[in-house]
Amino acid sequence: MDVAVIGAGPVGLMLAAELRLGGADVVVLERRATPDQRPRANGLAGRIVEQLDHRGLLDRFRAEAGFAGPLPGFPFGPVPLKTPMPGLMVQQPRMEALLTERALELGAEIRRGHELADLGTVRGPDGDYRLAAKYVVGCDGAHSRVRELAGIGFPGTTDDELMRLGHFRADLPMFGSGLERGWNRRPGGRVLVTSLTPGVLIAGVREVAPEPAGEPTLEEFRAAVRRVLGTDLALGEPLWLSRTVSSARLAEHYRAGRVLLAGDAAHVFPAGGSSLNVGLLDAVNLGWKLAAVVRGAGEALLDSYHAERHPVAARTLTHTRVQALLDRLTGEDGDALRTLFGELAAFDEPKRHLATLLRDADELPYVPDLPLTVGGRATRVAEVMRAARPVLFDFAGRADLREAAGPDVKIVTAACPDAPADALFVRPDGVVAYQGDDEKALREALAAPGR
Ligand SMILES: Cc1cc2nc3c(=O)[nH]c(=O)nc-3n(C[C@H](O)[C@H](O)[C@H](O)COP(=O)(O)OP(=O)(O)OC[C@H]3O[C@@H](n4cnc5c(N)ncnc54)[C@H](O)[C@@H]3O)c2cc1C
Repeated sequence: MDVAVIGAGPVGLMLAAELRLGGADVVVLERRATPDQRPRANGLAGRIVEQLDHRGLLDRFRAEAGFAGPLPGFPFGPVPLKTPMPGLMVQQPRMEALLTERALELGAEIRRGHELADLGTVRGPDGDYRLAAKYVVGCDGAHSRVRELAGIGFPGTTDDELMRLGHFRADLPMFGSGLERGWNRRPGGRVLVTSLTPGVLIAGVREVAPEPAGEPTLEEFRAAVRRVLGTDLALGEPLWLSRTVSSARLAEHYRAGRVLLAGDAAHVFPAGGSSLNVGLLDAVNLGWKLAAVVRGAGEALLDSYHAERHPVAARTLTHTRVQALLDRLTGEDGDALRTLFGELAAFDEPKRHLATLLRDADELPYVPDLPLTVGGRATRVAEVMRAARPVLFDFAGRADLREAAGPDVKIVTAACPDAPADALFVRPDGVVAYQGDDEKALREALAAPGR
């Protein structure tokens, strides 16, 4: 086996599909016997939406989405940013079902009820067996066993606030009774009331408190609301209850020899909305590189995964820490900070900067979705990228550049009125590795597409 991916969460499933597209054999080991049905993330936003388009997955996701298209704005913690952002509102269990379907179609093997015990041993339903894989990728979540076994540190901080979140069969009965839709700040904490589906209330409560043992209960939820609001809420029948303490942590390394990390195993952020976007884009960056290495490319390509994605998570950690702080500060100081930050964020330049951070906090150059004519047929860059292969776009009929590309690169001779250069060499993850008209420079980029 070329690669064992540990964890069939969204990141592991996305990675399995990317590895298969790159021609690697892959097995996904998942300790849960059945898929996780807890709601968790409500959707995706930013560059991952464009990346799903590059893989031809956008229509499947759109068919499941409560909303798909440019979101008119996006929250930076408690501060609304009025700037368009590509978005898809799909509950996490549906997202995982779509990604499972995709990974299986591409030929990945998914073994549920199989837990990684150590880097060479799997605990399956019929007993332990040896895992023989050239590479192991830990997509096994925030408490990653793979990270621990590989001895990779996970420094950072853990919040002293406890967040209880629940879905309840009820409408939004509390508007008009002093609560607004969204988070309501009080001296002792915050209470969330909102809804994304008619008849389902999403409620949450945050307060400084130790985490109790055992499963979360309705009574505990009600008591926490009462402590923060000083009154009860009509919550209705609970459909799902959770309890989390948020953390801000980043793995010291994304690679230790034959072991790699992606998704929550590599980073956890203290504010919502970014974790899945960053994690799925880790999978897109790593998939083609690891597949190329198992097919014989030099290992330096794998090191470029850490070099490119670790700084993205570090920047995401910075901006989610700021979001969490803006959200958390109470009293007049907190109100003053939020007011001034909101005023600054309304100016074009700061708004653009914050929007870029929320899109992916990534500084690599990604190919724009240019309109093209190929062989007399109108198409777009995203459609050409479907096969997840490196592509040389030749916009100027340059036989010398096409020859330099070699057999592994898909060559697309295209007419494009907005072409930025004679040629673009685009990696399978959409990064422009070369743009220009110089054959020698193109050959260098082809030899070392990672940074
Ligand atoms: C209440 C809540 C709300 C959230 N809201 C949002 C949101 O709005 N937006 C957002 O982007 N994110 C949100 N998140 C975070 C999001 O759910 C995670 O970022 C996402 O699930 C991470 O995906 P992953 O594939 O990296 O890890 P996970 O989804 O954690 O998957 C890891 C998988 O590995 C398996 N596993 C673990 N150990 C082993 C082992 N030893 N052997 C085999 N399998 C193993 C686990 O069973 C699990 O299936 C939320 C999370 C919670 C809890």
